[in-house]
Amino acid sequence: MEAVVEATELRKSYGETTALSGASLSVDRGEVFALIGPNGAGKTTLVRALTGTTEPDAGSARVFGEPPTAVDRDRLGVLPQDFAPPDRLTAHELIDYYAGLYDDARGPDEVLSDVGLVDAGDTWYENLSGGQQRRVCVGSTLVNDPDVLFLDEPTTGIDPAGRRTVWRLIEDLAAGGTTVVLTTHDMAEAERLADRVGLLADGSLIAQGSPDELVAEHGGGSRVLVETDADPEAFADLEYPVERASRVSSRGRGGGTPAGVVVRDVTPVEIGTIVDYLEDRGLEYTGLTWAEPDLEDVYLALADETERERTQREPIDSPTETDAATPGETA
Ligand code: ADP
Repeated sequence: MEAVVEATELRKSYGETTALSGASLSVDRGEVFALIGPNGAGKTTLVRALTGTTEPDAGSARVFGEPPTAVDRDRLGVLPQDFAPPDRLTAHELIDYYAGLYDDARGPDEVLSDVGLVDAGDTWYENLSGGQQRRVCVGSTLVNDPDVLFLDEPTTGIDPAGRRTVWRLIEDLAAGGTTVVLTTHDMAEAERLADRVGLLADGSLIAQGSPDELVAEHGGGSRVLVETDADPEAFADLEYPVERASRVSSRGRGGGTPAGVVVRDVTPVEIGTIVDYLEDRGLEYTGLTWAEPDLEDVYLALADETERERTQREPIDSPTETDAATPGETA
């Protein structure tokens, strides 16, 4: 399969700060590749190296086998994270403005329809909501019908409906053969869109694979969230690993973190054991949810591992407690 985007051992430092420490990846035609990783991991620097807006210190970046700056710009679409177009143009004028940069561009109406903004075409950019603005920005990368699209946090700040519009758009583009590299903090987005996910930490890709592969390899067993005010210690006689739920998101509940404990490695047929345990000990609980591990578990497990390795490397002058998951904390 032809690699459309390829990074080989990319390195980049800004003074003392290492942004990329040997990042390698390869993305095939029509693939959606999602870069995830904590703030400061190097995602933006990697996208910039791959789009030719920053020069790596070492290693190579290739798009269609060429250095990014040599690629015919008709073939590239790039949405930088901090992209800020002029305020005093309407959405329609803005798309038209960017279309004017290409000899053979798509019509603004068609592009506005792609990003679900037909009705907002005559609104000034500055009067659009944050999410609508971001969608116009995504639209501006589509005027030249690019073969490869780099989207740095395309859906940050977009409401759920707008986010779905952008997701469907990306799925359609990929189905039509467009190669997409995106960064995101939204694990649901990565899980839904990405054929492959790369987890960047401290400037290198510490894990790559399809969401399913990553979950199978790093996600751990399925788990039960017990919403309770009881301490994890009250579960000590249960024959499963137990921890405070402070770092487990409550998916499907509109965010927030319920108070409770997480019991790990529980298969669905074993849930009864936990209910019996709660009843036997008179432990009060308000909810019990079983969940398969997902990409967020992978992210947290690998990010924790990297953090532990880093603190082992730099044991001096960091008096910080490990993190919010420290047992024994009272809410
Ligand atoms: P991410 O996108 O994953 O948040 P970045 O690529 O923006 O990560 O940043 C990686 C590291 O490089 C961070 O420590 C950041 O502060 C630093 N960095 C990025 N760009 C610059 C720059 N232009 N000048 C100095 N430091 C930078």
